[in-house]
Amino acid sequence: MRAYNFCAGPATIPLPVLQQVKEELLEWKDVGASAMEISHRGEDFVQKILMPAQEKFRKLLNIPDNYEVLFISQGTSHQFAMVPLNLLGREGRTTAGYWDTGHWSKRAINEARRYAEINVSPLDNLQINSEAAYFHYTSNETINGIQIHEVPDAGQVPLVTDMASEILSRPLDINRFGIIYAGAQKNIGPSGLTVVIIRKDLIGHAKDFTPTLYNYKTYADSQSLYHTPNTFAIYMAGLVFEWLLKQGGVEAIEKINQAKANKLYSTIDESHFYYNNVPEKYRSHMNVIFYCPTPELDKLFHETAHQSGLINLRGHKVVGGLRASIYNAMPYEGVEALTSFMKDFEKRYG
Ligand SMILES: *Cc1c(COP(=O)(O)O)cnc(C)c1O
Repeated sequence: MRAYNFCAGPATIPLPVLQQVKEELLEWKDVGASAMEISHRGEDFVQKILMPAQEKFRKLLNIPDNYEVLFISQGTSHQFAMVPLNLLGREGRTTAGYWDTGHWSKRAINEARRYAEINVSPLDNLQINSEAAYFHYTSNETINGIQIHEVPDAGQVPLVTDMASEILSRPLDINRFGIIYAGAQKNIGPSGLTVVIIRKDLIGHAKDFTPTLYNYKTYADSQSLYHTPNTFAIYMAGLVFEWLLKQGGVEAIEKINQAKANKLYSTIDESHFYYNNVPEKYRSHMNVIFYCPTPELDKLFHETAHQSGLINLRGHKVVGGLRASIYNAMPYEGVEALTSFMKDFEKRYG
C-alpha cells in the first residue's frame, strides 16, 4: 500500500502517472518496446514524447516565444556553474548579484565565486546593482522552508531563479525572468533532468573555455538532443505535465497548494506544542518545517508517523526538526492525514 510520502526530493509522483507508466512499461504505444528503449533521434521519441512534453510545459506556464525551453540531463546543481559560465562577460559585465536566502543559494554563491566577483545580499536587505551581469535567487529554499513569494524588481538586470522546489506550483509572469531552472525530482518527475527556461538573447555568450555540455547554445541549437538525454525522465515529465493540465493547470493547483499550506501552518500555530520559526511572509507553501518541543520528540514523531503511513517527515540534518514537503502531487487528503496525526501526537505527548 502506498503511503503519503512527504519526501523533499525525489518526491511523490501523481499516482495516475505511475499507473500509466506501469501499463506502458513493456510496450509503449505500438512500437514493440518501452519508451526508454527507442532512439532519442527517432520520430517516435521526438514527435510523440519530447515535443509534446515541451509544448505542455510551455502551455502550463504560458511561456512567450522569445524564451527557449531546454531539457538538460543533469541535476539542478549543475546550473550553479552553467549560469556564471554563460552569463558573465556579456556586455562586458563582470560581476553578479546573489541573494543569500538559505542552503541552496549558498551552494550557488560558492560555485559562482570560482568565476567572478559576487555581491551577496542577505535575506532582509536585498540590493541589486544595475551593473551586474545577472541577479540570482532561490525562490523556494527547500531545506530552510523559506519562500520568496514576490518576484524582486531587478530593473534591466536579468533575474536568474532556482525554482527546483516550486516550479509549476503557481502561475508566473515569465517576462520578469532571464532564466528559470528546476531539477525535475520535486515537482516534475524523476531525478536526472533539469528544465531551463531562458530568454533567447541570453544564449550564445558563454566563455570560450565553457565545456560544450555546459553551454546553453548547445541545447538550444539541437532541440536538447546534442547527446542522449534521459529519455525516460522526459517521457515521465510529459505525463506529469498532462496530469497537471487535467487538474486545471497551475492556477488550479495553486489554490490547492495554498489550502494545504494553510491547513498545516494553522495546525502548527494553533498548537502549544509545535512551532515554526520562519517569519510569516517567507513561509514556504512547498516545504513546511516544524519542531516538537524537544529533538527526542521530533525523532519519536518521525518514527510513529512512519508506522502510520506518513513517511519521510524527518527534517534535513542542517536544520533538524521535521519537514513536510507538500508539492503538487501531494493530495489535500495527505495533509489532512498529517494534521490529524499531529493533533493525536500532541494529545499523547504534549
Ligand atoms: C533539490 C534542490 C537543488 C539540488 O538539486 P540536484 O538535482 O540534487 O542538484 C537545488 N536547488 C533547490 C532549490 C533544490 O530544492
